[in-house]
Amino acid sequence: MTQKQKLIAGNWKMNGSLEANAALLQALREGVGQPACAVAVAVPAPYLAQVQSLVAGSPIALGAQDVSQHAAGAFTGEMSTAMLRDFGVRYVLVGHSERRQYHGETDVVVAAKAGQALAAGITPVVCVGETLEEREAGQTEVVVRRQLAAVIEASGGAVADMVVAYEPVWAIGTGRTATPEQAQAVHAVLRAQLAAATERAAHVPLLYGGSMNAANAAQLLAQPDIDGGLVGGASLKAADFLQIIAATQTVQA
Ligand code: PEP
Repeated sequence: MTQKQKLIAGNWKMNGSLEANAALLQALREGVGQPACAVAVAVPAPYLAQVQSLVAGSPIALGAQDVSQHAAGAFTGEMSTAMLRDFGVRYVLVGHSERRQYHGETDVVVAAKAGQALAAGITPVVCVGETLEEREAGQTEVVVRRQLAAVIEASGGAVADMVVAYEPVWAIGTGRTATPEQAQAVHAVLRAQLAAATERAAHVPLLYGGSMNAANAAQLLAQPDIDGGLVGGASLKAADFLQIIAATQTVQA
């Protein structure tokens, strides 16, 4: 059986500068070689043009961190999928918990954003995950299923063309990681939900995100339904990000 290629995507969040980006990408390009997995970096919007040229000819794909739910028009401060396409963007994060939490993004808005991306041929990385309160109340499954259901419904049958990232909110930027077993349990729920929507559910990359680092990546990535990682803090350090990328090789060997 051939194994599906994993995906390691970095989320730089609101970090970077022209100088820092150039240094980080140079180190990544030098260290990445021919990776066993797909690699992407989701960068702040003002740096899309810079990073587009810095990753050109490398195995590193360009990602954005957000996109408008609208196609064009009077939406000050927003950016459309067409604009992202102009810069060669391949992936866009939608529904990151920081967008849901600080910018009031609802399941409906997130689903509309994913729909825009799919229609434009950009792969949405749909983020789902429960808060600590929801986990402690035994609501994890209900919450992630609700978040994913909204996106499946709006996907226009293109479910298999997206990436889903399970990111428990309590594990993001906290140094507190879900155990491989906790993460796998939720990934299995998501896989089953996808399987009810598409025959190609096994091909939908399910990423884990939440304090993934060089030390814990291999164990997480060894789980049967964990197809990669969405990496925040550790993606800003070339050595750490490269080690996470290298961990997919160990798992796939
Ligand atoms: C993220 O921002 O998607 C994330 C997972 O962050 P961190 O790895 O820093 O927890």
